[in-house]
Amino acid sequence: MIDRRKATQLGTGRNWGIWPVLGLILAAVLVPTACVLWFMTAAMGNERLAVREKLTQAYTSRLIEAQQQIDQFWDRRADELSMLPGEGPGEVFARLAGSDLADSFVVLDEKGRIAYPNAGAVVPAEPATTSAPSSSPATAPAAELADLLAEAAEEEFSRSSPEQAAELYARVADRASDHHVAARALIAQARCLVKARKRDKAIGLLAEALEQPRFRHVLDAQGRLVIASARLMALELMGRDDPRFAPAVKRLVDQLNDYRDLSMPAGQRMFLMTRLAELAPDTRWPTLQAELRGREMSRGLSDFKDPPTVTRLISGYGGPQRPEARIEYLRSSLLSSDRRVWGLYAGQRVIDELETLLNRAPAGADASCRIINSVVARPELGKPLLRAEASRKHMSDWYVAIFLSGPDPFGAAAEKQNAAYLWTGIMAIAFIAVMAVILASYLGRQMRLTRLKNDLIATVSHELKTPLASMRVLVDTVREGRCTDPKQASEYFDLIARENERLSRLIDNFLTFSRMERDKRAFDFAAVDVGEVVRSATGSVRERFASPQSQLSVEVQPDLPGIQADRDAIETVILNLLDNAWKYSGDSKAVAVRASAADGSVLIEVSDNGLGMSRRAVRRVFDRFYQVDQTLSRKAGGCGLGLAIVKFILDAHGGTIDVESQPGQGSTFTVRLPAATKEDYRRGTEAQRQ
Ligand code: ADP
Repeated sequence: MIDRRKATQLGTGRNWGIWPVLGLILAAVLVPTACVLWFMTAAMGNERLAVREKLTQAYTSRLIEAQQQIDQFWDRRADELSMLPGEGPGEVFARLAGSDLADSFVVLDEKGRIAYPNAGAVVPAEPATTSAPSSSPATAPAAELADLLAEAAEEEFSRSSPEQAAELYARVADRASDHHVAARALIAQARCLVKARKRDKAIGLLAEALEQPRFRHVLDAQGRLVIASARLMALELMGRDDPRFAPAVKRLVDQLNDYRDLSMPAGQRMFLMTRLAELAPDTRWPTLQAELRGREMSRGLSDFKDPPTVTRLISGYGGPQRPEARIEYLRSSLLSSDRRVWGLYAGQRVIDELETLLNRAPAGADASCRIINSVVARPELGKPLLRAEASRKHMSDWYVAIFLSGPDPFGAAAEKQNAAYLWTGIMAIAFIAVMAVILASYLGRQMRLTRLKNDLIATVSHELKTPLASMRVLVDTVREGRCTDPKQASEYFDLIARENERLSRLIDNFLTFSRMERDKRAFDFAAVDVGEVVRSATGSVRERFASPQSQLSVEVQPDLPGIQADRDAIETVILNLLDNAWKYSGDSKAVAVRASAADGSVLIEVSDNGLGMSRRAVRRVFDRFYQVDQTLSRKAGGCGLGLAIVKFILDAHGGTIDVESQPGQGSTFTVRLPAATKEDYRRGTEAQRQ
């Protein structure tokens, strides 16, 4: 029966009533917190943007300035690369090669074709007599010379008789009217003399016979200037110790360094220079570097066939593609203002020259300008702050970029600002949280009090109404003289007295509870004889157990130790427990009160054979206003405060209370109070007597 009964409490919505308020408080915390967080994030983002904006503004002018510097630099360079009036192509090259205006140069003619480095010999116009057939009687017809040459070649290569061959070549040279044939025959003769180990004779031939003015512009079958080859050959044969060596070297060096004369192809000039630099290491070659670089660099660039149109830096790349693109494969060329000279540049040189130019200003301390080609990206530099085309006029496939170097002052400012935002945010959130906790506890307390008040008022009014109403009916009956039988009148008075007693108990409980709520219950501690209190309490309820089915047994252990307690409060405890035992038992009641001592405590047990309680109910019976079955409690005249008061009193006395109960099996409430030591007890009783 009891199991099916629903455990309820007085007052409505006691458990869930707090949740909406908690929800509101939570919202009151979460919404401002979210706002603060949002504000912080937005502020920090804005700060970063603002710093970026500031930096961009600060460095944009620097970037524009850099572009102007680059434009001016190439304008000036284009002017400097121009030809001087009256200068020949070779002379321009030689002059510029010593100027360091570029790594190398290509000189053009008026029509935009390459004039230097010249692929073939450029022979100045000479009087027709030089190449006209000689009037010498020794001249022979071409066919005869061809036969002689064939014979000489056979002697030289097939029969391996160089002396014979040398003689035959000498005859050809002697008789040939064509300077080319004669010169080539002389060279062949010298070669054969060398083979025949007639070195001196060969040197004489090369140094004298071939030095004749008529051979000055003679070219060999490969288009090379014969006299220059002959001079090198003579030097190679002489050796350094030969007294003729030094003048011969000088003669050839002068010839090679003379850029007015382009009768020698540039390739041959470069070859001879290189070879001569090996033979005579002391010689100076101011143009050799430019010659060598020119040959190497023009490979990566355009072939300069089309006539040039604009004076801009044209870049060419001939290495591996991204991402391994390497700067050493990048070449650039700049056309001079007069469109006659291409200056050739290695990519690295372009970068170095411009970066030196741009970072010379003292303003470059916190940031540096870098030059980047669109093909060779230079990822090692990282992310630039700003980037723009290096120059609209001259360098369309290059960028100039600004990189911040060292600690970025604006970034540090932004960090500081952000830290300030962060701390303000954290403080604001902490403040909101603390306020919320204070508010929640205050509201919780207020709500609990309000609910208690409501419950109390509801209970008081309800509980007082019933006994008052029944008393009024009984009093009215007697007063109006409707009750004539004195026995019945006496029964009525008994009933009124019982109702009165119930009323007093209720009011006592309410008052105790009210005091308890205000924590103003002042207990009057004194030495208490538990046996006496038990007997007094049971004595005052004995009348209720007067019916034959009711039984109240009291058992007090002799020599029970005393306790330090408020006597009336302990009596209230026992009375409340006895009242419950009576109320929640059936018609046949068997209630036992036992007082005993154990382990330094005094135990007071109140057991009944009543309805008992479920485990769940046992856990909650000490809660205020808790009633297992409200209807039954109301009928029995309870308000759910009795056990809460018992618990409160015992807590104040350092005691405990346990319940053992099973539905339908009755209940046993065990109160445990600390026993007073004999000394305490003696002092307590003496104090009472005084
Ligand atoms: P009440 O004034 O309603 O009796 P109490 O605080 O004294 O309030 O008890 C709380 C509830 O515990 C009671 O409503 C009742 O349901 C249950 N209870 C208390 N004592 C007993 C008991 N001896 N046997 C069965 N149930 C009990």
